[in-house]
Amino acid sequence: MKTELLEFENKHKLLEPTSTERVATLEAISEYTENFLGNIDTLPAFVNNVSEKAPFIQSINFEEQNTVNEVLKNIRLYIDTPGINPASGGHLGYIPGGGLFYGAVGDYLACITNRYAGVRFASPGAVLLEETVLNWMANLFGYSKNYGGTLTSGGSIANLTAIATARDAINLKAKDYHKAVIYTTQYAHHCLQKSIRILGMDDVQWREIECNNLYQMNVEELEKAINKDLNNGFLPWLLVASAGTTDVGAIDPLQQLSEISKKYNLWFHVDAAYGGFFILTYKGKQLLKGIEQADSIVADPHKGLFIPYGLGAVLIKNKKLLHKTHQYLANYMQDASTEEVDLSPADLSPELSRHFRALRLWLPLKIHGEKPFENYLNEKMQLAAYCYQQLSNLPDVEVFNKPELSVFAFRFLHKELPLDKYNEKIQKAVMNDGRVFISSTRLNNCYVFRIAILSFRTHLSTIETALTVLDKSKKIAEDELYQELRNN
Ligand SMILES: *Cc1c(COP(=O)(O)O)cnc(C)c1O
Repeated sequence: MKTELLEFENKHKLLEPTSTERVATLEAISEYTENFLGNIDTLPAFVNNVSEKAPFIQSINFEEQNTVNEVLKNIRLYIDTPGINPASGGHLGYIPGGGLFYGAVGDYLACITNRYAGVRFASPGAVLLEETVLNWMANLFGYSKNYGGTLTSGGSIANLTAIATARDAINLKAKDYHKAVIYTTQYAHHCLQKSIRILGMDDVQWREIECNNLYQMNVEELEKAINKDLNNGFLPWLLVASAGTTDVGAIDPLQQLSEISKKYNLWFHVDAAYGGFFILTYKGKQLLKGIEQADSIVADPHKGLFIPYGLGAVLIKNKKLLHKTHQYLANYMQDASTEEVDLSPADLSPELSRHFRALRLWLPLKIHGEKPFENYLNEKMQLAAYCYQQLSNLPDVEVFNKPELSVFAFRFLHKELPLDKYNEKIQKAVMNDGRVFISSTRLNNCYVFRIAILSFRTHLSTIETALTVLDKSKKIAEDELYQELRNN
């Protein structure tokens, strides 16, 4: 039996590269990433070839062994080339971020040592580090010591965690779901609906409160709706404000909404996944006043702090409530303490074993310091203001909002051509050009572009390129549409 075991051991060495192999691999990876980052300013922001087959990465046959170089070559070809390049400063669609180098290094370290970030006694240091970055955020948002928080994979899971906590905070049970009311606007992120469905709460009542002409929740309308619901025997439960809507970056009137939530005893949730970290700037602090009143806050470091994808955060004003929703008992977990003072991440989140996420945020903060983040966020807001100004100066542009933060919507007008078709065609031409990526949405029933500036790599030259590409694409779209009209 011993010889057999030793044979196993020798075979299992196959999964542990030698020191020489490790160093060679890191060199190859380093060459790859240096090449990528060294050319990031000229690499396209978008490459349009979705349908291409990718045999190397689609093969389910893992019998062969491959070299690192072979693998890297195929990663470049099939993964890092097609589609949106989120590391590019030219990514101006959806909500970009970029992906900080030290964030990646943090992941590398966290994965090599594989510290267990779920339970305090297993890795007290990793848990302390998570608490440190959460304390830093809580402090930014004006929360006091009693808060509880957790790092998630992103904003969607962070919102889910907050909504589940809000439900249990008032012991809302299934038999009463149909009476409970959520107040939000049509511009709230769709992950809210997803959360409610995942939580099995489809029966709750939704009230989409009308917005003012700045796409912010109309407070009078909200109060009317609440009173109406109270009169009709419903149970006003949850008020969801957006601090930076996805469509136009609008911030709902947080201060006033917090007052209403107190008056009517609603859970006040602020989804600041996009806009939250603008609080690092002076302007952001003014715009986000009132967020400290929220019962729960979501913010995404993989957006406003430029961390690579895979990092959201949720803060709950009252830690006990976060714990109440996520507590558990299991015999095999008896070594872990469940004392209120030294709860572990596993007591405050749906996860048990989890990625040691704190390092990917702490490392960039510790190495760069906080100031560059503030500078970059200020730059993003000013770039958005500049881009908005340049576009609104054009006679054939209709703008839909002046950017409060760094997102705004606009479309091109045309005397003869159908506007939705025309703008869609322009969008296609922008995609084909690929130097920048700009996404679209619908506002007031129109097809519109939205420019979202949040990558730390987006600078003035990027915006000038975007304006050039839009101008060029306009002409292409016009020609194509006239051609089509002639052919019909
Ligand atoms: C991005 C975003 C989300 C979803 O976050 P993910 O990190 O993509 O899961 C939710 N709400 C708002 C306002 C967002 O901008």
